[in-house]
Amino acid sequence: MKIECILCNQVFEPDKMQVKKIAKHPHKIQICSSCKERITKKVEERRETSEHPSEPVASNPNYT
Ligand SMILES: [Zn+2]
Repeated sequence: MKIECILCNQVFEPDKMQVKKIAKHPHKIQICSSCKERITKKVEERRETSEHPSEPVASNPNYT
């Protein structure tokens, strides 16, 4: 079974978990493991370098 990654258009072999997912949700988009890794890394980086961590609502002066 081969599927195409929507991000890099690379045709790849899905792993067991992905095969199950695709069988359950055939219309859901799939991405390859390298794109998945890249996205996960980006999200983690953004979280770590976040300059404005969300403040508690109560300390927000605009909170009414
Ligand atoms: Zn990809």
